[in-house]
Amino acid sequence: MSRVEDSLVVCDQCGLAHRWGPVGPGAVARCTRCDAVLGRGHRLSIGSILALTVAAGAAYLVAINASLLTITLRGGADDATLPEAIGVAWQGGQKLVAVVAALTALVAPAAFIFFRLYVLIPLAANRRSSSPATSSAAPETAGTLPTR
Ligand SMILES: [Zn+2]
Repeated sequence: MSRVEDSLVVCDQCGLAHRWGPVGPGAVARCTRCDAVLGRGHRLSIGSILALTVAAGAAYLVAINASLLTITLRGGADDATLPEAIGVAWQGGQKLVAVVAALTALVAPAAFIFFRLYVLIPLAANRRSSSPATSSAAPETAGTLPTR
């Protein structure tokens, strides 16, 4: 991140290069020439988003291991977790229902949480371990980003 190219952003509308800097929470960075939006500051930090994702993972693990359903078969009722209910649906011949339920209730949330963690953990680790970058050789056309 210490290279000059890494700290520049070019306006999609007019092509003017700007030196990129941190954009505050809720702020909008705009082009100084054409007023196009170049970027927005996130209201939550990377650490906050990571903490929420870890909490989502914990809630997911609790949800898939908790007895959410009551399965009634041949007069008997039994509490079941969601994976158990999907297994019962599969064994009962409702394979399409089992597959759709497994994809939407088990695989998709797990993949969403996993890929968020896959992106956020290196971002959070890099943010903590890297030293502040200084660049002194910025092009003459580059200006600082105005934020509103
Ligand atoms: Zn522009």
